Amino acid sequence: MKKILLPTLVLATFVLVKCGPQKNSDDEVMKDISKVDPMKYAETITASDLKDLLYVYASDEFEGRETGEPGQKKAVEFLKAFYEDHKIQPAIEGNYFQTVPESFFRPGSGIKASENVLAFIKGSTKPDEILVISSHLDHIGITDDGVVNNGADDDGSGTVSVLEIAQAFQKAVKDGYRPKRSILFLHVTGEEKGLYGSRYYTENPVFPLANTIADLNIDMVGRKDYDHPNDDNYIYLIGSSMLSTELHDVSEEMNNKYLNMNLDYKYDAPDDPNRFYYRSDHYNFAKNNVPVIFYFNGVHDDYHKPTDTPDKIEYPLMAKRAKLIFLTAWELANRENRPALNQ
Ligand SMILES: [Zn+2]
Repeated sequence: MKKILLPTLVLATFVLVKCGPQKNSDDEVMKDISKVDPMKYAETITASDLKDLLYVYASDEFEGRETGEPGQKKAVEFLKAFYEDHKIQPAIEGNYFQTVPESFFRPGSGIKASENVLAFIKGSTKPDEILVISSHLDHIGITDDGVVNNGADDDGSGTVSVLEIAQAFQKAVKDGYRPKRSILFLHVTGEEKGLYGSRYYTENPVFPLANTIADLNIDMVGRKDYDHPNDDNYIYLIGSSMLSTELHDVSEEMNNKYLNMNLDYKYDAPDDPNRFYYRSDHYNFAKNNVPVIFYFNGVHDDYHKPTDTPDKIEYPLMAKRAKLIFLTAWELANRENRPALNQ
C-alpha cells in the first residue's frame, strides 16, 4: 500500500501543477464557478435530511431551547458538532460560539449568558465581503406545567435549513467551487426574548457590517398558514426591496430561473399591522443598513404552543424553500457586484 501511494501522489501533483486548474489552499482545486449549475448543489438539500435533523433538534431532549437554559446549551453543542462533522470552520478563531453575556439582557429578566453559533466559509476572490444566512437557535422552553415547547417550525425549521444550506455550499467547495464572497452561517440566540442574539452580533460584529452585503434570515419555513392551506409552493418574502431593489431582483430572478415558487409579498411593508419586518433577527441588520430578506411561512394554530412538533412539518415544501434560499445565496455570493443600496 505505502509503496504504491507515494508515486501516485507525486504523479497527481505533477499533473495538477503541469496542466490542472489553480490551487487555492491545502489540497483544494479551484474550478471556474461560472461553469457549474448551482442546482446540482441545491439538490443535495433534501426533505429526508431536513427531517432527520429536525427530529433531533426539536426533540424533548432539547427542552424547548430556552435562552441560557440547559436545553439551549444542548442545541448549540448540536450545531457545533454538525459543523465540525462537515469540516465547516468557525467564524471566530478556534471557537464556534460568540457569548452573549448575562449583562446584555434586560436587568432583572433572569436570563442567563447564552451563545450565538457562527460557522464560516471563506470566499475565494472577495473574502472580505460577507453574506449572512441566519436563523434563531432558541425557543420558548418548557411551560409552567412541565410540557416542552419543541419549536419545530419556530425556529427548528430555519435552523436545520441553515445547516443543509451550509452543507450544500461545503459540498461545492469540496468539488472546487468555493464561493467568491464569504458566507457566515449565523445561529442567533435570545430571539424569543427580544431579538437579543442578533442585536449582540450587530453591535459586536465579527466582520464589519459595512462589508456585510446582505442577511437572508429564515424564521418558520416548515408549515402552511391560514391563507395557503393547499398551496405547496409558497413562501412569504419580507424586506427584500426595502434597502436594495437589486437584492429583490436577484431573488426574483433566481426563483424564476429555477423554482417558480409563489413568492407572497402580502406582509412586505413596514406599516403592515403584523409588523413582521420588525419581529425577527433580520431587523437588526436592516436597521444597520444591511439589505435583508426574511423568509417566513406565516402563522398557524401551533405557533408558540407545545403542539409545534416535527410531525406537523411539511418536509418537501420546506426543502423547496431551503433550495430557493440556497440558490439566492449562491448568486449573491458569486455575482460581480454586491447588491447596491437604494438611493
Ligand atoms: Zn421565530
